[in-house]
Amino acid sequence: MTEAPNYAPPADEKTFCAVHTDVETALRCNRCARYMCPRCAVRTEVGYRCRQCVYQQQDKFFKASQQEQIISLAVVFGLSLVAGFIVPRLFLIGVLFLSLPAGVAIGELALRAAKRQRGRYVPQIAIGLVILTALIANISVIGDAITFAQRAPRGVNVGTHLTQELLPIGLHAALCSAAVFGRLR
Ligand SMILES: [Zn+2]
Ligand SMILES: [Zn+2]
Repeated sequence: MTEAPNYAPPADEKTFCAVHTDVETALRCNRCARYMCPRCAVRTEVGYRCRQCVYQQQDKFFKASQQEQIISLAVVFGLSLVAGFIVPRLFLIGVLFLSLPAGVAIGELALRAAKRQRGRYVPQIAIGLVILTALIANISVIGDAITFAQRAPRGVNVGTHLTQELLPIGLHAALCSAAVFGRLR
């Protein structure tokens, strides 16, 4: 280890870890100043801290109750189902112009519905919901595309047709979920 911040200058008295009281240490948490051994120290962006302080900081950030998280995700589900139905039907040009703003708006409304409280796993679950709703909202288009590919006569370029039908859906799912994630994170 090249850097060793928080090491107090040598004291006359021996000091011990607050948790492991038999382990001698001079390292102190830079937030609550308790002594901590290397096992208890967590390296953060702002220096070494004890585990308790790190957990407290995380809890402060992820404060959404279970109910708020469910409401937030319900908003994501409902709105992205609507967006997933409308936007891919406006072709690629619609997706390029609308999918990101739609995702930002969905994320913002979901955040407001939870009184701006964040949940630890909400952004990741939201990605899954946006992709799932894009599939649900376009299930008939996807089904038709698959049927077409299976029954297409020889000489018909199936790839072009599939790209035309499915690319707007896939691109919408990608852009919209990225925007929702960015807003909720
Ligand atoms: Zn601490
Ligand atoms: Zn310790």
